[in-house]
Amino acid sequence: MYEVLRLRDLPFFQTVQEILSFYTCPPTCPAICCKVTDIDVDEKDRKILKKAAKGNTTMIKPSTEYESRHYKINPPCPFLEHDKCSVYHRRPTICRLFPFNICHNPEALILYPCDVGASLFDDFIDYSNCVLRQPISEKMISDFRQSHSSFTLETDRDLPIAMIGIEISDLVPFKKYLESK
Ligand code: SF4
Ligand code: SF4
Repeated sequence: MYEVLRLRDLPFFQTVQEILSFYTCPPTCPAICCKVTDIDVDEKDRKILKKAAKGNTTMIKPSTEYESRHYKINPPCPFLEHDKCSVYHRRPTICRLFPFNICHNPEALILYPCDVGASLFDDFIDYSNCVLRQPISEKMISDFRQSHSSFTLETDRDLPIAMIGIEISDLVPFKKYLESK
């Protein structure tokens, strides 16, 4: 399992940033990512946020999900103000990856079905068809789109959200595909 502590140092981090630069969050999205999922925080993130929060770190709680030193913020994130991140340039690493997230498979990232995730997935379907020549199954496409339509602030946090796994080895070729479009 990945240690979130080292997340920003992993080779895929920069590639994900470059992929995400092709997408823009719609102004109509009420920052669902900051309201419905736990926000993982590593030690470096915690130190940076501590300065932004003027020393008040009570909202950053220890988490037992990972064996390494690890913290989390319960949603909705207290740094969200009027649906904007008040610590944007100091936000945790995990926020910089969304709608991607790490998962238990070290060879893949998961993709959340928010608006940006859905746009990205549409491009990934094209990439799979045109570059990989391995079409994604209709069922997987249908499940993800269904999940997108029900991914709202009312998302039941006790119910699993249908996400898709994207192989880390596909990130660089997918980025190149986006650049070539
Ligand atoms: S990353 Fe997704 S959930 Fe978050 S603001 Fe953008 S579209 Fe909305
Ligand atoms: S730190 Fe900012 S981007 Fe991250 S969850 Fe909180 S408000 Fe959202």
